[in-house]
Amino acid sequence: MRTTPRHLFVPDNARSMAYEDYPVSIGYGPTISQPYIVALMTQLLGPTKKHRILEIGTGSGYQAAILGQLAAEVYTIEIVPQLATSASKTLRDLGYTNIRVRQGDGYKGWPEEAPFDGIIMTTAPPKVPAALIAQLAGHGRLVAPVGSLWMQELIVIDKRSDGTIRPRSVCPVSFVPMQRSK
Ligand code: SAH
Repeated sequence: MRTTPRHLFVPDNARSMAYEDYPVSIGYGPTISQPYIVALMTQLLGPTKKHRILEIGTGSGYQAAILGQLAAEVYTIEIVPQLATSASKTLRDLGYTNIRVRQGDGYKGWPEEAPFDGIIMTTAPPKVPAALIAQLAGHGRLVAPVGSLWMQELIVIDKRSDGTIRPRSVCPVSFVPMQRSK
């Protein structure tokens, strides 16, 4: 995280806030999570250089940039076209070659590239979408804020090789609610 230029992921008028431990607005409603939460979720996900990771909610691309340095490949989906385009440009300009950004609805996941060793959601659904559990590899792990409106629980779901899942709760969090495509 120290080597990732967070100020390049926030709007120009918010650059002075970039390295504080706060979420920062990135336009169109969402925020880039505070560094502490990015670190906590990354640690819980536990990416390694062999892992292929799916992120739901690209936003600014900052979380994807952190994961890109720890995993083999990162696939990230953003529903707002302008954010998908700008995150894609930021990541390309910074030289990340193992991160693919797609504009689309995260509820469907990215079936063509499944299964994933890890899935991280940075937007909160009322419950974890079944398609994402299905796209998780055996021994894979999903980290997500789950719950209603602005109050959720951060949960970790481990998938066993026989396909059964084991969820556990980590702490209360507050993320932007996941949108449904219209
Ligand atoms: N990880 C981001 C912050 C994400 S904020 C970062 O590091 O900057 C949550 C993002 O999820 C927002 O950009 C929002 O537009 C997006 N989002 C909301 N619903 C979605 C959906 N159904 N599919 C994909 N992205 C979604």
